[in-house]
Amino acid sequence: MRSKSRMTLFPIKFVLFLHNYLYVFNKTDFDQDLYVGATVVRPGQDPYARNKFNQVESDKLRMDRAVSDTRHDQYVSTSDLPASSVVITFHNEARSALLRTVVSVLKKSPPHLVKEIILVDDYSDNPEDGALLGKIEKVRVLRNDRREGLMRSRVRGADAAMAPVLTFLDSHCECNDHWLEPLLERVAEDKTRVVSPIIDVINMDNFQYVGASADLKGGFDWNLVFKWDYMTLEQRRARQGNPIAPIKTPMIAGGLFVMDKEYFEQLGKYDMMMDVWGGENLEISFRVWQCGGNLEIIPCSRVGHVFRKQHPYTFPGGSGTVNTRRAAEVWMDEYKNFYYAAVPSARNVPYGNIQSRLEMKKRLGCKPFKWYLENVYPELRVPDHQDIAFGALQQGGNCLDTLGHFADGVVGVYECHNAGGNQVVLLRQHTQVSL
Ligand code: UDP
Ligand code: MN
Repeated sequence: MRSKSRMTLFPIKFVLFLHNYLYVFNKTDFDQDLYVGATVVRPGQDPYARNKFNQVESDKLRMDRAVSDTRHDQYVSTSDLPASSVVITFHNEARSALLRTVVSVLKKSPPHLVKEIILVDDYSDNPEDGALLGKIEKVRVLRNDRREGLMRSRVRGADAAMAPVLTFLDSHCECNDHWLEPLLERVAEDKTRVVSPIIDVINMDNFQYVGASADLKGGFDWNLVFKWDYMTLEQRRARQGNPIAPIKTPMIAGGLFVMDKEYFEQLGKYDMMMDVWGGENLEISFRVWQCGGNLEIIPCSRVGHVFRKQHPYTFPGGSGTVNTRRAAEVWMDEYKNFYYAAVPSARNVPYGNIQSRLEMKKRLGCKPFKWYLENVYPELRVPDHQDIAFGALQQGGNCLDTLGHFADGVVGVYECHNAGGNQVVLLRQHTQVSL
C-alpha cells in the first residue's frame, strides 16, 4: 500500500527540445501519492470491482510514465495551429487513470496549443476526485449536481470552452508524442473535418501500452454496434503505401476526437436526450457525414485508451439501446427497419421525443441515409429487395448461431442474445435461408 504521507518533493521538469518547441511540464505542485493513495485497493478487495479494469496495476504507474512512440512516421506539423480546449468527462474514474490522462495531455502537447483542460465530473461519488486536480496548471473542474451521462457532460464542457477547437478524451487515456498537432492541422485546414487519433490499447489487466493497427476504420453491422473494419484493398491501394495518409471512416469510436467548436455548435452538438453512454458516436458520425462534414482517422496521432469489457457504472433511467434507437430514428430513414430486424427487442424501447433533432436535420439540409450508405459505407451489405425478413431461429432459449465459423459454414446453437450478429438469419424468397 502506498504511504498517504506527503512525499519529499523534488522539482521534476521535463525538458525536450523538439521541432523548436520547448515542452516544460512542471509537476512540483502535485502529489500523486497523496491523491492516488487515498483510494487504493485494500488487501482482499477485488482490483476490478470499482473500475472493471485492474486498478492495482493502474495505481502502480507514475503519472508521467513513458510509453513507446507507436507512430509510423515522425511527421510533425509546422503550421500555425489554433489552440484547443481539452474536455474530459468522468464518472467514478480511478484517480490514477484520470491523473495520467491529464498529465499526458500536458506532457505531450505543445503548451501553446492547450488552452485549458476542462474536467467535467459527472456526479462521481467523491467530489474530491475532480476537485483536487484543479490544482494542476490549466485544469478547470466542473461538477454536475446530478448524473447527466457523457453526452450532456461533454456539451457542458464544450459550452464552457474558451479555445476555438474542442478535443474530447475519455478519462482513462494516455496521449502519445505529438498527438495533438496532426489533429489540429486537419481541422485548421477545413473546419468540417472531425478527426480521431489511432486509438492504441492500454491493456486492462497489466496496463501495458500496445500500438494498434493503422489499417482500421470504424464501422458497424445492422445491429449498430461499433466495430473495427479493415480498409478495403481499394482503399489501401489509393493510399499508395503512404501509412500516414488520413483514413476516411464511416464511424468514430466516439471517446477521442477533435472538432472545431463553432462547427460542433452549428451541427447540433450532441442529442441532449441521450443518457449515460452509447449510441452518441453513431449519432454524431451519421450527422457529420450526412450534413456535409468528414470523419477521419489521422495515423500520425496516437492516443492510448483502456478498453474494457464491462461498464463499471450504473445506467440510471437509460440504456444504450434508447440512444441507438434515437440515432436510428433520426438519421436512418427507412433503413432503420434493418436495425429492428437485426435487434427485434429495440422496437419495444421507448425513445422519447425526436422532433427537435428532426427539425435540425431539415434546417441543416442533411442528406438521406441512402446517400451515406452509397458514398461513405458501401461495404455495408444492404439486404436487397429479395430479402424478406431478418430474425433469429429460436428453439426454447437457444438460437441458431454461426459461432464465428464464417469460413467453413458450420453452424451451431447458442443461448439467444437478441443482439443480431452471429444469430441473424435472413429469410429470402424461394425459401433460401442464409446466415
Ligand atoms: N462517463 C460519464 N458519465 C456517464 C458514463 C460515462 O462521464 O454516465 C464517461 C466515462 O467516465 C468515460 C467516458 O464517459 O470517461 C466514456 O465512457 P467509457 O469509457 O465507460 O466508455 P467506453 O470507452 O468503454 O466505450
Ligand atoms: Mn473509455
